[in-house]
Amino acid sequence: MDDRYEAVGKFASAICQNILANLNERTENFRLGDGFETTTNSVFSALIARQSALALGMAESPLTWSGHIAPVILRSMVDLLITFRWIAINPRDRSIEYVNYGLGSEKLLTSHYQKQIEDGTDDDRIRKIAEANFAWIESQQFHIFVEVKLGSWAGTSIRKMCEETGDKDLYNFAYVPFSAAVHNMWNHVGKWNARTCDNPMHKQHSVGVIADAWPIVDFMFRACKYLELTLEAFDKFYEFRSDITPPTQEFNEHIEQLGASWNSVQSSSDEGAERV
Ligand SMILES: [Zn+2]
Repeated sequence: MDDRYEAVGKFASAICQNILANLNERTENFRLGDGFETTTNSVFSALIARQSALALGMAESPLTWSGHIAPVILRSMVDLLITFRWIAINPRDRSIEYVNYGLGSEKLLTSHYQKQIEDGTDDDRIRKIAEANFAWIESQQFHIFVEVKLGSWAGTSIRKMCEETGDKDLYNFAYVPFSAAVHNMWNHVGKWNARTCDNPMHKQHSVGVIADAWPIVDFMFRACKYLELTLEAFDKFYEFRSDITPPTQEFNEHIEQLGASWNSVQSSSDEGAERV
């Protein structure tokens, strides 16, 4: 089994390096736009870093390539891709909306902490968190001008955002199915955490299990794909051309090697078993 882990590790390591190379090329010494669109530039630069961090997190942790964990991460990646594309349609206004909503949300959280302190919770940790949050908000905007908004930040639904960006399939075939994992819906849980009881007298009730299927490399491919689509949206916006191998190509270049290593370890262990 150790050799198989090693093969996966080698594969994952190549993907990690590619993810970082793609990100660094777009964040180090990258001249963003005309220099007057600070919020847009900040948001887009930070969002590709976030998307890279999620893909990197999966690549660094091949044990997450299972139906239990990967879809939760992938849903977040799809969400980010939709957000990025949607902001790019009206970058000036929407990037400001995006930031302001986040600041408002942090202000609300800070006020909850402050209320706890006022109510007599004398916990130094809470005080420190509240102060740090407050300082983070104030470093960007005067606290009193930060508006707390409820509901979705974009003021519209994810489905409508996908329609507006011209990619309904992303909503239907990626966002919705991965959401079933995030929200622990039966169409996820019933597949991955339930098996039919063996006893024929038990009216076919389900028994909770943790389905054992690993590694599902397609999940890592999806992560590469959502990262790549985000990088493409970034490059399109800034009219940037990269010479670095795109993540899915990197994946494809190494996946056969992984398959060959995996199968050779598998067949040699089968032979060993036969000899015994
Ligand atoms: Zn039973």
